[in-house]
Amino acid sequence: MPELPEAERARREIEKALGRAIDGVDDRDGYVCRPHAPGELAAAFLGRRLTSAHRRGKFLWVETDGGDGPVLGLHLGMAGRIVIDGEPAPRRWDRFTLEFEGGGRLALRDKRRLGRAVLEPDYSHVGPDAGEIGAGGFAKRVGRGTVAIKARLLDQGVVAGIGNLLADEVLWRAKLSPLRPAGDLQPAELSRLHRHLRTAIADAIRLGGVHTGDFIPHRTRAGACPRCGTAVERATVGGRTTFWCPKEQDSP
Ligand SMILES: [Zn+2]
Repeated sequence: MPELPEAERARREIEKALGRAIDGVDDRDGYVCRPHAPGELAAAFLGRRLTSAHRRGKFLWVETDGGDGPVLGLHLGMAGRIVIDGEPAPRRWDRFTLEFEGGGRLALRDKRRLGRAVLEPDYSHVGPDAGEIGAGGFAKRVGRGTVAIKARLLDQGVVAGIGNLLADEVLWRAKLSPLRPAGDLQPAELSRLHRHLRTAIADAIRLGGVHTGDFIPHRTRAGACPRCGTAVERATVGGRTTFWCPKEQDSP
C-alpha cells in the first residue's frame, strides 16, 4: 500500500507535467471522483495549466494557473500510482486522466479503484507530515495517550504518511515495542523514534518505496530479526498485522 515515500515519488512524477496546459479530462469514474458528478472536474480543469505539486502525508494536491485556478486533490488509495506520459492502461485501470496540449497525459492508475481525484480537497483533518515535523512537535503529538505507539503512529491526524510497513520498520530501527502505550515513551525514546523515522523515510524515497526497508522482508511467519536472528513476533496492533523483534523491542 502506498505510504509517504510512494506518495512523494508520485508528487515528483507530477512535477514532470508542470507548466503543461490541460486539453482533456477523463473524470467518468464517479466513484474515484466522488462526490463530483462526471464532467465536473473536466469543467474545472479544462484549459488550466498545472503549476505546482504538493504533498502532506499520503495526500497530494496540484495547483493550477499559479494558484489562481482550481486545486486538484489526488490520493493513491491502496494500490494506485501516478503515471506521466505512459500508454493508456488496459481495462480502464486509469481511473482519472488529464490529457495535455501537445501530447502526454497524467493518469491515476489504480487496479483496486480505491484512489481519489477531488476538486478543492479539504485536508484539514490531516496532521503534519511525518517526514517534515520537528523533534519537539513529534514528541508532543505522538508521545501521549494510552494507545499502543504503533496505533499512534498510524493515526493520520497525529502525523501524516506512516502506514503499516513504515511503522514496523521505524519501531524496529528504534528498538521500541509496538505495544508500548504512546504516553509512556520517555523523551529520549521519542527523540530516537523521530530520528529513525526521518532516516527511514529518506531511505525509502531514495530506494523506491517502503518495501525496501531493512526489516520489511522479514515480516513473515518464519521471519528472523536481521540484526540479532531472533524469530519475529506477530500480533494485531492498532487493527493491523504487526511484526517485531521480541528480544530487542521488548516491552518495559
Ligand atoms: Zn533483534
